[in-house]
Amino acid sequence: MKGGRTLTFRYHTSDKLTNLQAQSLVSKLTYSLEGISACYLDGENQDIVIHANDDSNRSQIEDTVLLLMEQERTIRTLKSRVIRNVSTNDDNYKSPFPGASYHPDWSFASDGSVRRDFAVMLYQSIDGILSNLAMERHAKYRKYPSMIPLKTLDKCGYVTTFPQNIYLVSEIPHQSDILQKIKKTGDVESNLRQSQYALSPAVCFHCYEELAGQTLEHPVILTALGTCYRHEATWRLGNQRLNEFSMREVVLIGTPDFVESERNWWVDCIWKLFGDLGLTGRIETANDPFYFSDDAAKAQHQQMANMKYELVVEVDGGTQTFSIASFNNIREALCKPFRITDAADKPLHSGCIAFGIDRWVFSLLKKYGEDPGKWQPHIAEMMRFS
Ligand code: AMP
Ligand code: ZN
Repeated sequence: MKGGRTLTFRYHTSDKLTNLQAQSLVSKLTYSLEGISACYLDGENQDIVIHANDDSNRSQIEDTVLLLMEQERTIRTLKSRVIRNVSTNDDNYKSPFPGASYHPDWSFASDGSVRRDFAVMLYQSIDGILSNLAMERHAKYRKYPSMIPLKTLDKCGYVTTFPQNIYLVSEIPHQSDILQKIKKTGDVESNLRQSQYALSPAVCFHCYEELAGQTLEHPVILTALGTCYRHEATWRLGNQRLNEFSMREVVLIGTPDFVESERNWWVDCIWKLFGDLGLTGRIETANDPFYFSDDAAKAQHQQMANMKYELVVEVDGGTQTFSIASFNNIREALCKPFRITDAADKPLHSGCIAFGIDRWVFSLLKKYGEDPGKWQPHIAEMMRFS
């Protein structure tokens, strides 16, 4: 941070917004303001608290908060419904593994820059378990590039719906005078152009492109591990929130019944795995992080129609929670634009199960520590490193 001191701004919301609306406003503000280092809801009085790096952005921050607050007032924000739950705070919950050691910058660098030794083994173990489950379900393996054509994302409506998250790829034109100019001046920035690609924010979009235009007589399950990229506010990055992370997805395409029953199989199976690993948390209804108030109805629809469930883990005795997997049934939403149809030429249904592998590793390290020799033998055996 250059010179200056951090300033704290507070905005009352309790007279205007419900608590759910205030939470939703905070998540939008994190993507709406530059030059800040924190934005959160004060649990006691429902004030929005913002730490600004200096005074230069004060009026912009103020205008943005007031504008988004007015928009949020008009939106009915729905509460998530919990469909599975085992809490660290349950009276009958006793951690079988007390006193795990955790050194934040040892095997799992908190800024995401490197994973070492045991943490690397854990990535392989977790992903091995998930990809074996996918194989049991007769999934076909895939590997896709990190870059994805903008054309593909356009068909998904991704960039206009989630502009806050996209990383675009720029390139330098293959043009001699421009290359010479860069060599001479070192000025890259003013000689760039946008390429036809973005960094992929999820794995499943590649699957739709691969199957585009096909008529499928049987259901298809594809699985791939990929690196995904999402533009997150710099001040929020660290530990479980990264702008580059590993995701395994299992993508389901078939009849409405197939997609829903297969998704439910994964909910049950992963909930059991989660419990067997001794992790605590819940599965609840969720919605994607729609930024624009015009898209509020989509978020409500996702919640009400159970289109998205998230597996939320508790770490540090429940003081930190975050989603480690999502179970999505998006119905015709993507098979339609990609023209993936049944024999009667009707768009099929689809869904995906998405696992944030870094977050599974982080949660396990937080819970059991970094010394595999101290892990409970049955957990070590499940992870196949005993
Ligand atoms: P989503 O496609 O938003 O449902 O995300 C699928 C999974 O990816 C989430 O459940 C997380 O485990 C993981 N994930 C999403 N965003 C991030 C992030 N910024 N850093 C690390 N993992 C993430
Ligand atoms: Zn997906």
